[in-house]
Amino acid sequence: SSLEETLLSSIRTIPDYPKPGILFRDITTLLGNARAFRRAIDELVHPYAGSKIDKIAGIEARGFILGGAIAHQLSAGFVPIRKKGKLPHETVRVAYSLEYGLDEMEMHRDAVKPGEKVILVDDLIATGGTAEGAVRLLTQMGADIVAACFIVDLPDLGGRAKLEALGVDVRTLIA
Ligand code: IMP
Repeated sequence: SSLEETLLSSIRTIPDYPKPGILFRDITTLLGNARAFRRAIDELVHPYAGSKIDKIAGIEARGFILGGAIAHQLSAGFVPIRKKGKLPHETVRVAYSLEYGLDEMEMHRDAVKPGEKVILVDDLIATGGTAEGAVRLLTQMGADIVAACFIVDLPDLGGRAKLEALGVDVRTLIA
């Protein structure tokens, strides 16, 4: 079957989670499906095969799972971007917008050096608030953001356009 069918059919949709009226795209079923997981990772890495990528930055928590696999495949390092208060060393912190309100995320100050080539990874982009926060952290540390990659795009929520307006190359596998 096509990549798109494999991925679409391996994602479970949960109505009214975490709140009434929200259709939650549950990718734990994709991660649990050996073929779908492998195909998603292969597809995310293939444009960068042979190019030198220094770091994969993954957004807590599902971005860690994908980012670890991608980093291994590209022989790159991995950098966690976490909710505030979780990282033990000196951090840079940024506020980012959620659907209702604000939260803060952090990265270790020494995790990326100026000029390093970094790919940002998460499972899904919706409004783009989370990814935009991560882009701001990486930019603040002088990273060269090669691309931001996601398995799922929810295009009606405008996240891709928001990142592209910041000059970031966005790659998604399914909408
Ligand atoms: P955004 O900041 O509105 O783009 O939301 C994206 C962030 O929320 C990502 O870290 C996603 O993992 C998470 N997220 C939002 N909606 C969903 C969903 O339907 N399924 C899985 N994760 C979601």
